Amino acid sequence: MVHSRGKWFLHIGITKKTSDFNSKDNPQIVGIDRGLRFLATTFDSEGKTLFFDGQKILCKRKKFLEIRRQLQSKGTRSAKRKLKQLAQRENRWMTDVNHWLAKTLVAAYGSHTLFVLEDLTNVTFNTDDLPKSLRNNHRSWAFFQLESFLTYKAQAIQSIVAKVNPAFTSQRCPKCGLVEKANRHHETHEYWCVRCQYRCNDDRLGAMNIAALGQEWLSGVKHPKITKLTAIG
Ligand SMILES: [Zn+2]
Repeated sequence: MVHSRGKWFLHIGITKKTSDFNSKDNPQIVGIDRGLRFLATTFDSEGKTLFFDGQKILCKRKKFLEIRRQLQSKGTRSAKRKLKQLAQRENRWMTDVNHWLAKTLVAAYGSHTLFVLEDLTNVTFNTDDLPKSLRNNHRSWAFFQLESFLTYKAQAIQSIVAKVNPAFTSQRCPKCGLVEKANRHHETHEYWCVRCQYRCNDDRLGAMNIAALGQEWLSGVKHPKITKLTAIG
């Protein structure tokens, strides 16, 4: 029981029993590529893709950064207080975005889904899409927060989140298996395989490879990973 601003609030904890994800229920597999240009790009078992635009988020973060710079240059005590408030406001906003995104993903794919994410611990993100001013910021807690929100929201509906190794997920051709860095063209956001000529949007390609690793996870591989085969001779 909590008293706040003249009102009493009674908090009641509830436990809801749900059954667990079962890999034998023929789950659908959804690969999710997290990024900045797109917050998330998905690829599902039917070959369909969803793009979640990240431009508005980037714009808003830039604005936050500008205000932060102004306040920092002032250096007064009131500026410091405002800086603190600004940081809290930005965190709350980002948390809302992540809640919304996790909720939308769970609603879009429903129960018996294997959501596959890259394990981004110790990973430095590609910063090509990012203005310089935001680069120190990009390897942020926001990615991990989305992961945790998605994990508990998925659990509630007999779905699950698996994490796979991120190595080469943006370099492997899903058609012929060639792992080639030069296949990815950052300027045009296109993947174009030099061997089999397969072409695809580069964010979608990441999600495809992540989904493929999810398939391996489902069939029992504990830490699925793309390995680059070096040519012989
Ligand atoms: Zn190919």
